[in-house]
Amino acid sequence: MSQLTPPEGHANSNVNALVHIASPAPRTSSGALSDYAIAVKDNICAAGMPTTCSSAMLAEFTSPFDATVVELLRDNGATLVGKTNCDEFGMGSLNTYSVHGPVVNPFQAANAGTPWEQRERRAAGGSSGGSAAAVAAGFCDAALATDTGGSIRLPASYCGVLGLKPSYGLVSRWGVISYADSLDCVGVMAKEVGTLETVFNTLSVYDPRDPTAARPDMRQKAAQACEEHRPNLTGGSLAGLRIGIPHELFPAELNLSTLGPLRRMLEHLKSRGASLLPVSLPSTPYALSAYYVISSAEASSNMARYDGIEYGLYKEPPPGSDKTKTANVYAHSRSAGFGKEVQKRILLGTYALSADAFDNYFLQAQRVRNLIRADFDRVFAVPNTLSSSPRPNADGVHVLLHPSAIRTAPPLPDRNGSADPGDSVLDAYVQDVLTIPASLAGLPALSVPAGLGEDGWPVGVSVVGQWGCDAMVLDVGKVCE
Ligand code: GLN
Repeated sequence: MSQLTPPEGHANSNVNALVHIASPAPRTSSGALSDYAIAVKDNICAAGMPTTCSSAMLAEFTSPFDATVVELLRDNGATLVGKTNCDEFGMGSLNTYSVHGPVVNPFQAANAGTPWEQRERRAAGGSSGGSAAAVAAGFCDAALATDTGGSIRLPASYCGVLGLKPSYGLVSRWGVISYADSLDCVGVMAKEVGTLETVFNTLSVYDPRDPTAARPDMRQKAAQACEEHRPNLTGGSLAGLRIGIPHELFPAELNLSTLGPLRRMLEHLKSRGASLLPVSLPSTPYALSAYYVISSAEASSNMARYDGIEYGLYKEPPPGSDKTKTANVYAHSRSAGFGKEVQKRILLGTYALSADAFDNYFLQAQRVRNLIRADFDRVFAVPNTLSSSPRPNADGVHVLLHPSAIRTAPPLPDRNGSADPGDSVLDAYVQDVLTIPASLAGLPALSVPAGLGEDGWPVGVSVVGQWGCDAMVLDVGKVCE
């Protein structure tokens, strides 16, 4: 097991990564994960621990059952460290929208030797900032997290750790509190690809309790297609590996001072025999808007269950209002229980689904999503086995490589400042511009630390593959590591 005592100077009270620390349980000596201490994002149910989703709405909720992924961790001998901070219900990019307070990026090099009080406070990224920071700070060997539009890859990039968002449907979502069901994926963060791979392989099993889970035949078909169309990477040479560089994923918003580490990684891959090919994903510029329409629409529907009566915080309507009217209870409970960002998404999503706006927003966004999937299918060598007419492309690429984020970790507001870093909320939304296309297409994507940007903070590079090619993505990740 890797170091579990946090490195000098790191304490959870400074980082705020863990919002619940599990009481020590007897260790199981057998099982694929018996060497690992693993933390779990606080939107994944774990029996006997709180599951708050960083929301006042669920502040009192303790799950009576384990999510399938937690059950798999326990059955395979992992030690559960506790629950990790996140943006409320997974909505956010900086882990500042949390009832538990923001997560502080623990990245060491930039702060080495400086007492915590004098350190530069930067965001850990969101929404899985607690999972990324817990791994980076050495509180655990690996952490489970969820990724709807980038919530694993963005914090991984900001904190200098690895983050895998698997192919949609490979890891069970049963017992994971939904944000946007058609996009939500459970994934893993760690410091080494080997650890990530072991944890992912344990979790990637068919679960009949999750209606969106990929069936065994679909997994097998995809695995066969990947095997057939991928190069053999054993022996150290990357000859035959074609890596696509999508120019749309180098947008105007990208901070050029982060490009050095990516260039060095590309040179390294080329020197080992890989071919680098420019490719185009023309629908990319529409991805961000489509994502926020689809994810907010699904969120508005998922958040409807928290009404203060059946689920979530109950807030007594103020004196004078009619307490027998359920609408009053709903309104007061929901206004008190949800933070501003969640309320904004509910309003946006409800509007997008309303009769007047449906065609122009929700349907358009679904069309964009199809175009984005088609863009990826056009460039990959491996056919999409989920499509009705899978077409291999002999000239296609095996994986895509692009920056994970448009910048290094943004600063957190000063200790007394507002919870909104950056100049506007739109700045926070733009952080996801590079991670969202793979989410809309349901593809496996791994963010690998590539080195430090000019400001001395980590830069991540993403490796993206065809649906079901998670093993190949991890193999390429090992070469980039
Ligand atoms: N930042 C994006 C959002 O707020 C993605 C979040 C996520 O992947 N959970 O929706």
